[in-house]
Amino acid sequence: MFLGLRHGGPEVRPREVGAARRGPMAIRRVRLFDLSGLVALATTVLIVLATGALVHVGRIASAEADAQAVASERALFENVLSGRFRLMARDQLSLARWDRSVANVVRKLDRRWLRDEFFDPLWSDFSFAVNVVVGADGTVLASARGESVAFPSPRPPLDGDLALLRARAVERFMSHRIAVDGGFRQTHLPSARVAELATSGFVVVDGTPALASAMAIVPEDDGDTTLADGPPVILISARPIDAEVVAELGAELGFTDLGFGPERASAATLRPVLALDGRPLGGFAWRADTPGDRIWALIVPLIAAAAVILSGVGGLLVRHIGGLSRRLEASEAHNRRIARIDALSGLANRLEIEERLAEAAARLPAAPFAWIACDLDRFKAVNDTWGHAAGDTVIREVAARLRAAVGPAGLVGRIGGDEFVVLVTAWHDRPRLAILAGEIVARVRAPIALDGGATTDVGVSLGIALADGPGLSPDAIADAADAALYRAKARGRGCAVFAHEGPDPAPVTIDAPDADLAPTERATHVA
Ligand code: GH3
Ligand code: MG
Repeated sequence: MFLGLRHGGPEVRPREVGAARRGPMAIRRVRLFDLSGLVALATTVLIVLATGALVHVGRIASAEADAQAVASERALFENVLSGRFRLMARDQLSLARWDRSVANVVRKLDRRWLRDEFFDPLWSDFSFAVNVVVGADGTVLASARGESVAFPSPRPPLDGDLALLRARAVERFMSHRIAVDGGFRQTHLPSARVAELATSGFVVVDGTPALASAMAIVPEDDGDTTLADGPPVILISARPIDAEVVAELGAELGFTDLGFGPERASAATLRPVLALDGRPLGGFAWRADTPGDRIWALIVPLIAAAAVILSGVGGLLVRHIGGLSRRLEASEAHNRRIARIDALSGLANRLEIEERLAEAAARLPAAPFAWIACDLDRFKAVNDTWGHAAGDTVIREVAARLRAAVGPAGLVGRIGGDEFVVLVTAWHDRPRLAILAGEIVARVRAPIALDGGATTDVGVSLGIALADGPGLSPDAIADAADAALYRAKARGRGCAVFAHEGPDPAPVTIDAPDADLAPTERATHVA
């Protein structure tokens, strides 16, 4: 049953294809997100962040290591310096805490003894280049510059840094002074605590910065000698900071490039040297160890390795996801394709052909076209006689013949059971359409070989709707073709009927051409 089944009555009514047509006219193409690009971007950002973080950590670690190195070198320098002052005081103590010194320097001034027994060892044994003995009244009793000893007369008052040093040494003595029978002595202190008896610091002597130490000349702890009341006689010893002193300190510290000078006061790695009154005298400077550089040497290859590994992993990930994405796209494209193809005939399916019809209708009236509805004649009989598989063979064969007949003039589709449609877009003049219709009828009518050697045949009826006016909807065009097809069936099948698109179409019928006639002869049968 052709249209009757669909409409349940003899009246010719446009078939209800609207529902299908109102469905999705196009499969929305799902654009696959470019995952591989996103992963590549994420990997790059990750590498940049990781590298930046490592560089940042490296910078912090290296700066911290350098700062630690400088701090520990400075602490070491302080230890060595205070050790040096302690040593000076111990050397002084061997002569300043001695009964004979009290007898020959404090009680009376024995110049010869002072020179030979006092100043000489201070210079030759302990390398104190400057030694000054200051009386209780703060004047210089005697002074020595190396081997040269002087006993000034009149005795000049001590001044400058040495006067300050002497004043502190006096204070220090007074704080340790104890009264004993016959006078005063100094508290017993072992030589290990010599720093408590002496005063030391940096001074300028004869225009040169120097390490200096001062202490009172006092009796031995276990003797009978005592001191009179009043300020003590003070011994001041100094070593100018010359190349020898710097070399000794450098050797003790393990600093090969230790230097001293007034210009080094602003150097980064230095120990400033201040006089007792806080006056800057210069500074010790050396090139600090820079473990930060060694840290960088370790970290840079690590950073490079991490970046390479991350790039490799990222690259593999991008490649993998790229492949995945390509396969997905291919599969999606395949699905899109098969969603629009009729599986049995290989023709465009209903979805595809109706979408194309809608597109063609949208181009009206600029691009007229024709829509031909085709339905096989008495196809059920093929199924009934030869079986469903033979029916399928017939459908496939008819599809191939339709395609051959239409050629590049348009698109052939199968929209259901034994229903086909042709969308002719290459031209639209009625004579050529009539020729095409005759061609289709003739080709379909030719015998069809079935499996097993048998042959069968079917006919086809056509309804041709010419769409060449404005405002024609796809439904109206398809309905007009269906109505014409119904008339062709009613006229006995195996023929084509033209439909006029309008409110009351007057179908123009044609007789089916004789399959045996040549196409040009068949054309003459077309009304
Ligand atoms: P008419 O001349 O009036 O068109 O009669 P007909 O025998 O062709 O009957 P109709 O067009 O109404 O029915 C088409 C038949 O096609 C009905 C159904 O059994 C058969 N059919 C539908 N789809 C398929 C298919 O995929 N394969 C086969 N072999 N048969 C099909
Ligand atoms: Mg049929």
